[in-house]
Amino acid sequence: MTFKKLVIFDRDDTLIRDVPNLKSVSDINWLPGRLGILKALSEQSTLIAIATNQSAIGRGLLSVEEFESISEAIRRQLKENGISLWGLVACPHMPFENCGCRKPKPGLLNRLVEVAQRSDLEIFFVGNADSDMEAAKASRFQISGVKIEPTSLNGFENILNSRAEAKGK
Ligand SMILES: [Mg+2]
Ligand SMILES: [Zn+2]
Repeated sequence: MTFKKLVIFDRDDTLIRDVPNLKSVSDINWLPGRLGILKALSEQSTLIAIATNQSAIGRGLLSVEEFESISEAIRRQLKENGISLWGLVACPHMPFENCGCRKPKPGLLNRLVEVAQRSDLEIFFVGNADSDMEAAKASRFQISGVKIEPTSLNGFENILNSRAEAKGK
């Protein structure tokens, strides 16, 4: 399969409900319609990834192991719905650490694009926060920021209907 799009999603309040220091698998709540959209995207030859700020790790409120077990559960739940998660990156730092990966910095997004090693992909970053949109804009790659609301499906249709087909390949 030739992939045409890379769609990166923020995690909290974009794909799943924002639960502070989420560490219990039973607290993973998919927002309305998300699994259906992800399924449709994966059927369109799309690489699907997640980029999430998790300063709770830096603050000591969430261990790396707890975060990884949540990530594994998310990956498993997606798989059960026929969706394969290509990439997942997180920033564990606190704001004052001034790292290059905490959104609105573009480090997480750049890392995913670099790993994909493809200049012909159409790239989107979907998020619910202004800082998500700033991260997309700050990237040295061309990434279209798509701002969405946690309880609405508005905006997702732009990604599903994007002109990636017209690019050929
Ligand atoms: Mg969010
Ligand atoms: Zn960071």
